[in-house]
Amino acid sequence: MSLRTPEQYKESLRDGREVYYRGEKVDDVTTHPVIGKAVQHACIDYQMAEDPRYRDLAVVTDPQTGQAYSRYYHLPQNAEDLLQRSRLIEASTREGATLVVLIKEIGTDALLALHIVAEEMAKHGAGQYRERVQKYYALCRDNDYAVAVAQSDVKGDRSMGPQGQEHPDYYVRIVDRRDDGIVVRGAKIHTSVSTNTDEIIVLPTRAMREGDEDYAVAFAVPAATKGLKLLASSYGGFQRNDFEYPISAKHKMMETLTVFDDVFVPWERVFLAGEVAAAGLMALTFVKFHRFTAVSYKLPLLELMAGASQAIAEYNGIERAGHIREKLTKLASYHATVQGLILAAAQQHTVVPPGIAVPNTLMTNVAKYQFASNYHQAVQMVQDVSGGLLVTGPSMEDWRSEATGPYVEKYLGGKKGTSTEHRLRLMNLISDLTAGDFGGYQEVLAVHAEGSLEAEKLQTYREYDFAAAAEYARELAGIKEG
Ligand SMILES: Cc1cc2nc3c(=O)[nH]c(=O)nc-3n(C[C@H](O)[C@H](O)[C@H](O)COP(=O)(O)OP(=O)(O)OC[C@H]3O[C@@H](n4cnc5c(N)ncnc54)[C@H](O)[C@@H]3O)c2cc1C
Repeated sequence: MSLRTPEQYKESLRDGREVYYRGEKVDDVTTHPVIGKAVQHACIDYQMAEDPRYRDLAVVTDPQTGQAYSRYYHLPQNAEDLLQRSRLIEASTREGATLVVLIKEIGTDALLALHIVAEEMAKHGAGQYRERVQKYYALCRDNDYAVAVAQSDVKGDRSMGPQGQEHPDYYVRIVDRRDDGIVVRGAKIHTSVSTNTDEIIVLPTRAMREGDEDYAVAFAVPAATKGLKLLASSYGGFQRNDFEYPISAKHKMMETLTVFDDVFVPWERVFLAGEVAAAGLMALTFVKFHRFTAVSYKLPLLELMAGASQAIAEYNGIERAGHIREKLTKLASYHATVQGLILAAAQQHTVVPPGIAVPNTLMTNVAKYQFASNYHQAVQMVQDVSGGLLVTGPSMEDWRSEATGPYVEKYLGGKKGTSTEHRLRLMNLISDLTAGDFGGYQEVLAVHAEGSLEAEKLQTYREYDFAAAAEYARELAGIKEG
């Protein structure tokens, strides 16, 4: 099997996994009122593979074997492969009404990184990881698995590494090394889509140093593994109608506190166990791909911010006002800047052993930083153009009621000749996107997911060629050194 149907995917989630929601064990994530919505959202990935409109983008066929598999599992070799990957991420996020699907994006980001790091480690005498990574990658690809990535540790005191903390389990660690594998303990946080994936890949969150050997650990486990407990976040968990919440009534992503309560991992699923020097490389290589994924999935959101602002300005009759045009122009250039940087990141890639194209790290981080550092300001502009009705509007029941509906219809119209219903629906879309709990989720996602702002700044500083730039300055100043 290389491609699954949405039904096969859902069936695979009924495997006895230990998921908790508001303190209670969930019997079946696919029918749970909140997590079930996230499952349905994730089905987009499998639906697209069957949809003639997306088939060519979502599925690749191995020319040698004739095997068809999800494009996410295709190892990119050039700019076109990276761009196709980016387009698929963008298209699926568009299907998800601006919410990323993520069930294959993040897992394959990790698999790409694992290939590169295992190759590097093989050069330093640890050749066992290369074969394990290749086998594990084939397992995921051939079973069309959905894969989450748990990288962020809970971390305790942020000014310290794993050692010297209040307790030794703020970073996931090896507590036992056995002939057949390792036993791990600790917890990761913010693990997206883990309630509804087949597998979870665990990576180190940071560079490690001597003495941190037990914490330099990477591995993969099936979601239904003994001792693995997934405590689902309740954020945004209330039920809603699609008149008032046109996006979040249908689309949801779940995050978990991912607890490893002495979980056994067989050696064939262990990709790092004590090699401190490789932990940082693994963490950084993953984000090289993952931030490229991040900016790719932001594009529908940025287009929607510009588009919704234009449309609501028209309904409000202000589309020609100078300050509105200025805001629309800023939103357009915000979208176009990220779009352009994605193209540049793909085109200026480097190919590293074993032949994988890595998006340009400087361009990727600049794109991510541009997106994240300007997001709240963009929200402000969208809200400014829209007006206060974003948070004071009538409910679906008011709209439908014989007693109140006529007042809503009469008084909440906009520009002459436009429909009140259309104005309200658009207002609700913008409210959902920027002013409700889904809007709050998007804001925090923008700032922290795939690394906080400082992480992108740090990478930008590291990657920029300051030496060449300074040399240019010296040359123009007529300075000759050395
Ligand atoms: C919606 C969402 C989904 C996510 N999905 C995933 C996922 O699927 N998998 C995954 O592994 N992670 C995921 N993340 C985690 C994300 O990568 C982290 O949120 C991010 O790396 C920040 O870590 P933190 O939340 O612990 O915040 P912190 O690290 O506590 O950051 C808070 C502030 O402290 C600063 N700070 C931290 N350490 C230091 C220090 N030593 N010195 C100075 N300043 C410091 C930061 O720069 C920031 O300003 C997700 C996050 C969100 C919000």
